[in-house]
Amino acid sequence: MKKELDLNTIINTLQRVLPSIQKSIALHEPLFTGNEWDYVKKCLDSGWVSSAGKYVSLFEKQIAEYTGIKHVIAVVNGTAALHTCLQLAGVRAGDEVLMPALTFVATANAVIYCGAVPHFADSEEKTLGLDPLKLGNYLKDITELRTVGCFNRKSGRRLKAVVPMHTFGHPVDMDPLLDVCRRFGLALVEDAAESLGSLYKGKHTGSWGRLSVLSFNGNKVITTGGGGAVLTNDSSLAVLARHLTTQAKLPHPWAFHHDMVGYNYRMPNINAALGCAQLERLPEFIRQKRALALRYQEAFAGIEGVRIFKEADFAHSNYWLNILLLDEGYSGKREKLLELTNRQGIMTRPPWTLMHKLIMYQDCPRMDLACAESLEKRLINLPSSAFLAE
Ligand SMILES: *Cc1c(COP(=O)(O)O)cnc(C)c1O
Repeated sequence: MKKELDLNTIINTLQRVLPSIQKSIALHEPLFTGNEWDYVKKCLDSGWVSSAGKYVSLFEKQIAEYTGIKHVIAVVNGTAALHTCLQLAGVRAGDEVLMPALTFVATANAVIYCGAVPHFADSEEKTLGLDPLKLGNYLKDITELRTVGCFNRKSGRRLKAVVPMHTFGHPVDMDPLLDVCRRFGLALVEDAAESLGSLYKGKHTGSWGRLSVLSFNGNKVITTGGGGAVLTNDSSLAVLARHLTTQAKLPHPWAFHHDMVGYNYRMPNINAALGCAQLERLPEFIRQKRALALRYQEAFAGIEGVRIFKEADFAHSNYWLNILLLDEGYSGKREKLLELTNRQGIMTRPPWTLMHKLIMYQDCPRMDLACAESLEKRLINLPSSAFLAE
């Protein structure tokens, strides 16, 4: 017979890893102890607070240097960046776009903004992201390759793109996924919203897709308040991304001419000022977050029925949010553990509700989602702010 999961041991272990404080410990808090006040003040003093100003281009340049991806277009948030990328990847009304069922709702919403249909795929235990082998086998079964692209034989719709998401900062296994994209002629757009600072085989996440997305929301590794970015190595796509996100206005000293339906998606200068200061801290944040992850891993080693999720061999993760995984068979204790930890002031959270269980996405096409279903029941996110490592 299996031993009972010892919830007290788990709580005590968490309390040993985390600093003892009076008030509660948040899941992820931003830290503004660098040049944030200075740069934001300079931005206000300059009068340039909106979409033009030196901090926007500086922020873009520094993100490009940090990630090694050539072109960066800063935008208002990660969701807007996803919408822009999908359009530029050629996703049109009536197309289908593959993505993990285990993701944040923005990934699916952005597909709907294009008039397209999300198609949900399973994750794998090794990365918590898309399972490339399972996806490849599934596509072999359900698709038909025509000269104009890959079609879903069941729905009759074109399968246009795949959007892998690097879950809680952990890189998807990109090499076999790239192979699937090649075999089925699918465009690759990476949702790297959570994985700034995470590498796959030594290269930054977001380097593999034709286009990729970052988010600088308040809870992400670094923040601009609200913000996001489109990244690409393709210079013509970069020009289009910039154009599309600035109302598609044609450059002219005074005239207002626009040559397509654009969006007001550009990041304001005041947000970019905050971002420039945050970016200076990023290497330190990541070092601290990796140290905290290691502390969790060591503390929980040997505890019956649970483990702390560890990066795969090919990955260098930012450990955006740490993950406690209950073993199969112990998922019945998950709600109790959430309740006990939150009552103790340790903010823990379950993962997102799987996309196909949300009312607006319940009728979307999907493959067998056994792994995602299992992970959804067994997973708990732990407090992960960089300063908790101190
Ligand atoms: C945060 C996030 C987004 C959206 O970013 P926002 O800046 O909040 O719009 C998209 N996808 C994933 C996986 C995210 O975690």
